[in-house]
Amino acid sequence: MSFDWEDGRGGSNISDLEYQSGAKIQVTKETDKEKTLLKLFGTAESFRKATQLINEITQDRQKTYTRNESISPQINSKSVVTSNESVPIKKPERAKFFDMEECLRKEKEYWSNFPEIRKNFYEEHPVVRALTEKDVKEIRLENNNIVVDRVLSTENGAAIPKPVLTFEQAFCRYPEILSQLKKAQFAKPTPIQCQAWPILMSGEDMIGIAQTGSGKTLAFLLPAFIHIEGQLTPKEDRKGPAVLVVAPTRELALQIDKEIKKFNYHSINSCCIYGGGDRKQQVAELKSGVDIVIATPGRMNDLFDSGDLYIENITYLILDEADRMLDMGFEAQLRRVLYGIRPNRQTVMTSATWPSGVRRLAVSYTKDPIQVYVGSLDLTATHSVAQIIHILEEGDKEKTFFDFIANMGPDDKVIVFCSTKGKTDYLSVECIMKRLPSASIHSNKEQCDREQAIADIMDGTAKILIATDVASRGLDIDDVTHVINYDFPKNIEEYVHRVGRTGRAGKTGESISYFTSENWASAGELINILEEAEQYVPKELYDMSERFASRQQNKTQNPKRGFRSGSRW
Ligand code: AMP
Repeated sequence: MSFDWEDGRGGSNISDLEYQSGAKIQVTKETDKEKTLLKLFGTAESFRKATQLINEITQDRQKTYTRNESISPQINSKSVVTSNESVPIKKPERAKFFDMEECLRKEKEYWSNFPEIRKNFYEEHPVVRALTEKDVKEIRLENNNIVVDRVLSTENGAAIPKPVLTFEQAFCRYPEILSQLKKAQFAKPTPIQCQAWPILMSGEDMIGIAQTGSGKTLAFLLPAFIHIEGQLTPKEDRKGPAVLVVAPTRELALQIDKEIKKFNYHSINSCCIYGGGDRKQQVAELKSGVDIVIATPGRMNDLFDSGDLYIENITYLILDEADRMLDMGFEAQLRRVLYGIRPNRQTVMTSATWPSGVRRLAVSYTKDPIQVYVGSLDLTATHSVAQIIHILEEGDKEKTFFDFIANMGPDDKVIVFCSTKGKTDYLSVECIMKRLPSASIHSNKEQCDREQAIADIMDGTAKILIATDVASRGLDIDDVTHVINYDFPKNIEEYVHRVGRTGRAGKTGESISYFTSENWASAGELINILEEAEQYVPKELYDMSERFASRQQNKTQNPKRGFRSGSRW
């Protein structure tokens, strides 16, 4: 490909360059070399300036068009003819490259042809209405210290709906939902549900800062069911889904889909589209007509590009685990598709954390959202989990692990976390050779194998799941009695997430972490977690933490002095 100066912005660049440099620029092409030559006419000064500007542009363009290595125009003594005469240059007519107002007007006009979106389905229960401000404060405090706020608003927006305490208070007008909740034998709403249901049924945008295991999926799904049914266009007449849930991983997407199907509310149907799954089948499901699509960003883009995913009738959008999607580099893919969704839809975001990237997404895609922050449930889960730390050498891990396995009870179920795929495979093969009922999961496994591994551990066919961190978040596996950190995670947040895979739904659990000298940098933070949960802290852990802290201090004071690797002990 040659560099075509006369195309689009290139064309206007020539007149811009002429104007800025004072030189006259003539574009010629050497077809045999597939290169473009520029001839410059003007004073030495204008020639110098034009050359400089051209070099700047070509460097920029080379950065942009990295696929093309021969795009730079040839500017050399042969190709440039200078003249001492100044050439009069006209100021270029600047075409408006992007007319924002016009775009907004056209967008508004386009969406005005779509049916109105109904969002408010909430009727406050008399008991909730009667709650005083003090009651509301107390309820929020007692429910994991829920904090609610219109975080992105500079003014005092409309009042934030009060929390509910029972399923009846939230869904008194929806008996089928109540009966499904009863069937599920849930005792009461989780903290995020207490506050999210009134907000979402009122039609407000929401950002839920909550972890997996907090009940966040039903927090956004039950209002979604009500939203779908409440729209003016009957679903038979609607093209494409009304609800889109975007999730970072296939496992989480499949889990959300499972939750929808488990709930089986009226005839609301869903389809899960994710990379690694059967594309043809996913397209067929989309074509057959679905109310809810749960998608991972890559496959969502793919099916959007191919025209199989129609997004213009989506009126309720959920970005689940937004922080994780950003960590996984999905921002561009998200933004591409979200741009085409109705701007006045209702939007829900969930995230475990609230970093600037997530805030940026929220600013772009939500309208005056109410943030609901519930204290980390995984951290509270660590209170229902006995956390045991084994200080050992790397070489002792395997024996310690198989000693533990040999002593497992018949009802025990364990997730074992390894730091690498290789280690996961190794341990898995060892388990298979010992004929242990095990399964393994990591990101290099085929999707069907990953799904099978999860199904096996869920139904108890496997009692041991060996996994990399891909399984530490988002997975909701019942009855995990033990978590083993075969390799201690790189950061303490991951530790908390892993520990939270057991001790769920009111049950107790045990987490066992193999901690070696390599992990000494995490000792201090681990001590904080153990102390907070009133767990036993081995003396060696305190020693390691102190040694690491003093090493850090020395490093700051003597930045040039090196430390021998063995110095940590
Ligand atoms: P999630 O945080 O959405 O992944 O939910 C974790 C688990 O909690 C899922 O198995 C849900 O079915 C379950 N769950 C959701 N709401 C409740 C509730 N109110 N009480 C007990 N369990 C619940």
